[in-house]
Amino acid sequence: MPPDDHPFESLREQLDTAARYVDIESDERAMLKYPERMHEATLTLELDDGSLDQVRAYRVQFNGARGPYKGGIRYHPAVDPDEVRALAGLMVYKCAVVDLPFGGAKGGVVFDPQDYSERELERITRAYATEFRPLLGADRDIPAPDINTGQREMNWIKDTYECLENTTAPGVVTGKAIESGGSEGRVEATGRSVTIAARELFDRFDRSLEGATVAVQGFGNVGSVAATLLDDLGATVVTVSDSTGAIFDPTGIDPADVDRFKAETGTVVGYGDADERTNTELLTADVDLLIPAAVGNVIDDELASDVQADVIVEGANGPLTPAADDVLDDRDVVVVPDILANAGGVTVSYFEWVQNRQRFSWSEDRINDALETTITDAFDEMIRVSEDREIPSLRTAAFVIAIERVLTAMEQAGKRAKHG
Ligand code: GLU
Repeated sequence: MPPDDHPFESLREQLDTAARYVDIESDERAMLKYPERMHEATLTLELDDGSLDQVRAYRVQFNGARGPYKGGIRYHPAVDPDEVRALAGLMVYKCAVVDLPFGGAKGGVVFDPQDYSERELERITRAYATEFRPLLGADRDIPAPDINTGQREMNWIKDTYECLENTTAPGVVTGKAIESGGSEGRVEATGRSVTIAARELFDRFDRSLEGATVAVQGFGNVGSVAATLLDDLGATVVTVSDSTGAIFDPTGIDPADVDRFKAETGTVVGYGDADERTNTELLTADVDLLIPAAVGNVIDDELASDVQADVIVEGANGPLTPAADDVLDDRDVVVVPDILANAGGVTVSYFEWVQNRQRFSWSEDRINDALETTITDAFDEMIRVSEDREIPSLRTAAFVIAIERVLTAMEQAGKRAKHG
């Protein structure tokens, strides 16, 4: 397999590239690139027909220098240890670049949730929470939603943990339903930060989103919200997709209406008068802004040379391979990296965790204002570092900021020789 098919190798490559701009000895780089610990388990569950089934489950705690481990749990048949390691590492640097007091972690369970009933999903989720309970805690490791998990799963995890610990501990998990201690604005937060990142980048180039054409790959929690908010800002969303296919309408698609259509039919395909397209056609569409908001590794170097958008804002984690990044850099396509653009999710997770600790609720306006400040401050800092230190790739600039914050915390904890 080429290295591009290994997300963990891709992350290490990105970290090595950024480490060249950081005051770090080469023998110290391993502590940036490898997880502190990796847990795996086989979960046994009873199916509705009374038979037993087993699924593999993981939790990787990558780095805890800046605070409790933080990161989502993904349910997907393609989950593998290499991917979970990569996603856990991304969480470390994502939390650091937006300056949240968290480390990074990630969980995954290898199965297709579509093959299981709701009761069976509940048993898998509770088995996960039970198995990994000793690791979890509002001051230890705080899961959240990721692909194929949401409020329902987080509510189950909270309940399982609280029953086993004989306490109330809403801050043990974020992304809960409001009534179970969730936060206003959490569901929309990731799509909102993608939109803020796009708006800031267009502003920098004195370009307006008004009338800009947009392609959104993935019409789930991130893509549908980003499409709707960009439409609100006057952009024209011309193509969107989900796992069943893509649709295209040069006159513009109403994202809120597609959302309703998808809720009814389970797919975006067949919506209105839009033409059907392939996912590759969406990724290479002649648009101003491309938002990959589905899974990882969707744009490799070959596809990157056919991308026509001049701006890419990463809604998904790891949608571009490092080789694709090189091609896009050479072609002057500007990429706003995942660790900043989609950091809105974990940022509002942080606000949720703070509210849980305060036993107090913030208004949606307060959440969205604080999110706006967090993302625009981090964006400005990324641009400043890119310019001052002559780092052309925004991804590398974002990693430099994040790495330096993590290293400082490690140094202060006595886990690194003093520098400077
Ligand atoms: N799974 C989301 C991410 O990749 C959110 C993580 C969180 O809120 O902890 O950023």
